[in-house]
Formats: sequence, structure tokens, C-alpha cells
Amino acid sequence: ETSKPENFIETIIKQDLAEGRVSKVVTRFPPEPNGYLHIGHAKSICLNFGLAETFGGECNLRFDDTNPAKEDQEYVDAIKEDVRWLGFQWAGDVRYASSYFDQFYEWALHLIKEGNAYVCDLTAEQASEYRGWATSPGKDSPYRSRTPEENLAQFEKMRAGEFDEGHCVLRAKIDMASSNMNLRDPILYRIRKASHHQTGDKWCIYPAYDFAHGQEDAIEGVSHSVCTLEFADHRPLYEWFLEHLPVPATPRQYEFGRLNINYTVTSKRKLKQLVDDKVVAGWNDPRMPTISGMRRRGYSATAVRNFCQSLAVAKTDGVVDMAQLEFFIREDLNEHAPRAMCVLNPVKLLISNFEQHIDSDVQTLAAPVHPSKEEMGSRSLPFTKELYIDRADFTEDTTLSRKKFKRLVAGEYVRLRSAYVIKADDVIKDADGNIETIVASLVPNTVGDNPPDGIKPRGVIHWVSATHGKQASVRLYERLFVHEAPDRGEEDFMQHINPNSLKVLDNCWVEPGLADAAPEAAFQFEREGYFVADRYDHQPAKPVFNMTIGLRASK
Ligand code: ATP
Ligand code: MG
Ligand code: MG
Repeated sequence: ETSKPENFIETIIKQDLAEGRVSKVVTRFPPEPNGYLHIGHAKSICLNFGLAETFGGECNLRFDDTNPAKEDQEYVDAIKEDVRWLGFQWAGDVRYASSYFDQFYEWALHLIKEGNAYVCDLTAEQASEYRGWATSPGKDSPYRSRTPEENLAQFEKMRAGEFDEGHCVLRAKIDMASSNMNLRDPILYRIRKASHHQTGDKWCIYPAYDFAHGQEDAIEGVSHSVCTLEFADHRPLYEWFLEHLPVPATPRQYEFGRLNINYTVTSKRKLKQLVDDKVVAGWNDPRMPTISGMRRRGYSATAVRNFCQSLAVAKTDGVVDMAQLEFFIREDLNEHAPRAMCVLNPVKLLISNFEQHIDSDVQTLAAPVHPSKEEMGSRSLPFTKELYIDRADFTEDTTLSRKKFKRLVAGEYVRLRSAYVIKADDVIKDADGNIETIVASLVPNTVGDNPPDGIKPRGVIHWVSATHGKQASVRLYERLFVHEAPDRGEEDFMQHINPNSLKVLDNCWVEPGLADAAPEAAFQFEREGYFVADRYDHQPAKPVFNMTIGLRASK
């Protein structure tokens, strides 16, 4: 591993440790369980867990589950699985903001008693009018002058369910003239008569993100609370709560740039829309930039981590080229993926002189599992009279130059990978003129050996035995969006969906060993790209492979 220059958060942590401000580094990854994690979250996970690792500390996994309306146990489970798959283990048990609801309620009472919070009955519309604009001060709510006693009574009624949703909110009493809108008496509690995935029907008031996050950090002894830039404006509020509440610790918040990748979207809300509108088959569809989608696509956890570690931890948001992610995917697969042959668009090739040279129905040939890793062993390939090659690897056009077409041409020679040199002698066509069978002859003694002088194969092509190979279904993918920045333009991002992002080929042929591939096993299909046995659909009787990525970056 190459050593990277330390990022600004590491610099801060080093200083904090050196100067004794912090004795143990504790970070946290705090997703809201309102969707599946995406590649942007992977960056945050690698950063937070990575910092804990680097400094011998701990990283918590905490569900920021303060908004029951959009949250679900399904997301909790998926998030845990994704974090583990990426290779990280959180300290102790998973935490939930909701398990601190009693404490938050106590702290709300504390603010009320100190005259620092009040129950406000303005409608949302009125409240927004009173809040004003960044360029001019807001106006005090008429409810701001309620006495602590009155506020305690009203807040108790809120908690007891005596008011309808939206009837009132609890607000902090800070500064309606602040140039930071977040300090203009922000909402602490809302009425939401929704059942919560962790706390059931215990509560009908729920804390706002801002009233929860810093206190969660304080309860857990988080030393460095790392979040994305959009929270920079919330930091004064984060600190205000820590100052005005009897919290057990004072964590500090630091912000870094969100990861965006071109040709996709990284927002749970938008990804959910793709799922809900059935543009994709689910959150883990291999076209999704979700962690579970990338996993199903055949990206390894190592490659995703390597990518995240290659990113700058900066104080600006950035758009990263998809090619950068793909570089790490390819690098990892090239090194680790066993090689195999798969014919995507089969045409039959008949070896007319098979019986003359081979005295059984099948000759078992050997091929390396990996060209440069002998320790990965070899695989056996049944060579039979009837084979499949790819339609694209044969042409009747004899005018194509050797340089342009390094495959099989009528009347010429080609090498079948790890097998014989063959010559295309004839073609058999159907009534419509489509080639049904290529009739070829093998050149004896050419397995692992050069052909006799004068025979010059144009190139090497892959093949599969038509009688011993297995039929497979292969899913090919293109980008999900045709636009480089689908959610950054004038139009709705859904208008930029690529209508051809999925193509299913149901009549592919793979070498027989691949039927036994374990789900999620990755392969390089020689000359075609990297593929993975589908995690859910692949079965020995019905092999299913997903294309992960092409062999090289397209220009
Ligand atoms: P989304 O907008 O997709 O819902 P979010 O920020 O609301 O994302 P959370 O569940 O709140 O998602 O995120 C958990 C953590 O992951 C937060 O600390 C957040 O800052 C971080 N995070 C989310 N998206 C990105 C991203 N694109 N790049 C880096 N970090 C991210
Ligand atoms: Mg969100
Ligand atoms: Mg969020």
C-alpha cells in the first residue's frame, strides 16, 4: 500500500492527541435508515472507520433514526450488512438515536426550564414567514414569550398526544436576527403520530436532526464527529446545544466534501425513486451505485475501499469520474479473477476432421486459471467436435486486413484459445442466409505448439464445447444515465435515464466448470470482460452471470 499524505482531519486528530485534548479517538458512521447505502456513504465509512483504525480508536455504527415516517427495519438490516461487507466492524453493539429518546426529552425539559426553549403554535407557513431571509432579520414568534411553566405544560401535552401533527413544535430560543438561519429559533421537536421501527408507539413527538446529533455524539463519547459539508452551517447550533445542556462530553464536528460520481446519482431519495418507479429491479440492482448494487455487480469490497482511499478528503464537494472507480475495480479483478471462456452470441463450429485426429468423443485440454499466477492452478476444457464461437469472431469478408480483423475469416486460420489452430473451410446457412454452422478443420499437433510453416493464424479466439458447455444467461449493463450530471441540470434527473442500461442474453455458453461457480464468484471471460455469478439467481442448473466491467477503459 502506498502511503498517502495525511488529510486535514488526521492532522487535527494528531494535534488533539499530542496536546492532550483527546485521549481516545472515537468516530461514528451515522446513517439514517431511510434507504440503502451508496458509494458516497462508502467514502464516509472508509473515512470514519479508517480514522479509528489509524489512531487505535473506535468507530460506532449509529442509526440516526429520528424520523420514523421514512425509516424502515429493512434499511437497518441492509446497512449493517453493507458496512460488514465493506470489511468494517463497529465497536460494541449497533446504536440507535432512538435509544436516547428519553434523554433527549429530559434535555428538552432542561432547555425549557432554563428559558431556552418554547412551544410555538405558528403554522409552518407562518413560521417560515417569521424566520425571514438570510439578508434581513426575522421576527420573534408571539409564542416566544411563553413562561417556562406554560411551555412545560404545553410540551407535556405534545408528548401525551393531545395535539394533532403540525399543531405546534418545540423551538430553541436563540436569535431570530442571526445571519445563520439555523440559529433562528430552530425546531427541536415535532409531533409525528407514526409508529417507529425501534420504539413502536412510545413516542408521538420526535427530535429534529440538529437536536439529536451532537447529543448522540456526546453520549457516545465521540471525539471527532465527521460529516459532510452541508452541515457546516449547522455547527454553531451543534455547539450551542452542547453548551446549553448538561452533556457528558463535548465532541467536535468537522466537515468534508461529499463524493459525487458522474453518470449517476448519490442521494437516497433519488435512488429510492428509481426503485419505486421500477426503473431498476431493486436497491441492489447491479446498475445502482448502492453498496449492495456494486456488490451484486461484482465489485469487490477491496476495490471499493481502495477507490475510497484514493479520494481526497477535502473541504469542497467534488465530482469524481466513474473511470476512477472503474480503474480500481479492474485492477483488483485483473489480479484475482480466474479466467474462463464464455460465448455470448454463439454460432456453431463443426470440426470436420475431429475423428481423424482424436480417438474419443472428447479431448480434455488444460488451461491456466490465471495467466500470471501459476498457484491458481489449471482448469480442464473439453474439446469436442461441435463447438460454439462468437458470431462476431467470424466473417466471410476476406478483404479485411490481418491487422483489422484478428479473428476467423473464411478460408483462413485462427487459434482456439488453449486448443488447436483451425481453418474455416465452409459455412452452412439457413433459408434466410444466416450462418448456422461454420465447418472447420483442425491442424493436428498445434495444442501448445506453433503450426507448421506457412500456416499463420490471424489471432486467438475463445470457444466452448457445444456438447459439454453449459447454457447461461448473461446480463450486460450500460450506465444508468446518459447524462454526465443527471441531477445537476434544469430537467428532472429521471429524464436522463438510459433506456438501454440492461441487456439480457439468454443463450450464452460457458465452459462446464462455471456451472459450479459459487454465487458472487468473479471471472474474467477471456476477451469479453469481467463477470460475476449472480448472488441470488445463479444456479448450477441455470447459470446467471452479471457483467461487472469491460477489460479496458473505453475512450
Ligand atoms: P442522502 O442524501 O443520500 O440521504 P444523507 O447525507 O442524508 O445522504 P445519511 O444517512 O445521513 O445520508 O448519511 C450518513 C453519513 O454519510 C453522513 O455522515 C453523511 O454526511 C455521509 N454521506 C452521505 N452521502 C455522502 C456522500 N455523497 N459523500 C460522502 N459522505 C456522505
Ligand atoms: Mg438524508
Ligand atoms: Mg443525512
